[in-house]
Amino acid sequence: MQHYDFAIVGAGYAGSVLAERLASQSGKKVLVIDKRPHIGGNAYDYYNEDGILIHLYGPHIFHTNSPEVFGYLSNFTEWRPYEHRVLASVEGQLLPIPINLDTVNKLYGKNFTSEELSDYFKTVGEPVAEIKTSEDVVVSQVGRDLYEKFFKYYTKKQWGVYPSELDKSVTSRIPTRTNQDDRYFSDEFQSMPLHGFTKMFEKMVDHPNITLMLGTDFKDVKDSLSYDQLIYTGPVDEYFDHCFGKLPYRSLHFEHKTLNEEWHQPVAVVNYPNDNAYTRVTEYKHLTGQEHPTKTSITFEYPQAEGDPYYPVPMPENAELYRKYKQLADQQQNVYFVGRLGTYRYYNMDQVVAQALTLYKKLVGADSLADVAAGKVPSK
Ligand SMILES: Cc1cc2nc3c(=O)[nH]c(=O)nc-3n(C[C@H](O)[C@H](O)[C@H](O)COP(=O)(O)OP(=O)(O)OC[C@H]3O[C@@H](n4cnc5c(N)ncnc54)[C@H](O)[C@@H]3O)c2cc1C
Repeated sequence: MQHYDFAIVGAGYAGSVLAERLASQSGKKVLVIDKRPHIGGNAYDYYNEDGILIHLYGPHIFHTNSPEVFGYLSNFTEWRPYEHRVLASVEGQLLPIPINLDTVNKLYGKNFTSEELSDYFKTVGEPVAEIKTSEDVVVSQVGRDLYEKFFKYYTKKQWGVYPSELDKSVTSRIPTRTNQDDRYFSDEFQSMPLHGFTKMFEKMVDHPNITLMLGTDFKDVKDSLSYDQLIYTGPVDEYFDHCFGKLPYRSLHFEHKTLNEEWHQPVAVVNYPNDNAYTRVTEYKHLTGQEHPTKTSITFEYPQAEGDPYYPVPMPENAELYRKYKQLADQQQNVYFVGRLGTYRYYNMDQVVAQALTLYKKLVGADSLADVAAGKVPSK
């Protein structure tokens, strides 16, 4: 039986980054197992039957403030500059979200300047003694009307609960602006992998020390594998057979369609805060830069409770339940939990890359993230 230094469960960012570093920088023999038939985890993209590059698990837009993460991923891809813009369909208009000067002026038929808008927000914002929930964040900044039109029902659809029941972190991710900046993210690095995410992952795991075992559930093979250490990027509660109960995850149903037209909507993503059962519609050609004169592919996202675990639900009782699993996880010898599902965190791609590099840093005893990203690790 082949023996491995590391078995890694999951070929998404967490698993692939660790496999790549351990194999290429530390000379370790690594087995990567994923139950899906492909690498890339939720960031997987592919050319559909109409030849359009789409994201199977919903739109993924890369953005980060970390030069280490950007520099590290640049070893495996060139980039296409892309700044993400989102419009929200509200009362028959398509308005910029995050809320900015144009959003308010168009919605209310006003002609505010930035200063006037700041004053307006001060009059409509409702003071909250301590900002705890996602509702507090928005209502304190922009008042109740904008909260209801852009956030309240969108969040209810997306998470199955109102923002008043969700941790403040969910809506804190979205800024409010008084200028005309209509970019969805303000990060320093905003770009898409030039040839797609999957191509980037292919380069990461293309190493003689890495063996891929796809289409295989770890549960079904774990007793027949031989390895020294385990890195687990699947759901932490599943690893422990849900011994404290199930950690709640939010799931999505994706409806992918190709239309016989060049363009469907003016930007990559249109949000539907109030109408329709879906939350948003994505048109991929805006993201990828792909040209096609007569066809375009789009995806509708329908949130649901059951299905693949996509989003850990940030609520206090879930954080409490996770703490129990974390305690158990910390007691394991030679088993490490990492990634969105392994640590039950609502992390973006860049944060998962940073988390994986940080674990690698710990495993090899390196000094800094910059060192491990650049391959400067102590020899063992
Ligand atoms: C709809 C959606 C949109 C998103 N948009 C963005 C975005 O625009 N920008 C951004 O930065 N982030 C975005 N994200 C977040 C991003 O997808 C994650 O941060 C990232 O993919 C997490 O990587 P990961 O390796 O932790 O997990 P995953 O990508 O989920 O990988 C975990 C892998 O483990 C495998 N696995 C689990 N259990 C087992 C098992 N028992 N046996 C074998 N394999 C197993 C799974 O099949 C999966 O492939 C989005 C997420 C979703 C769901």
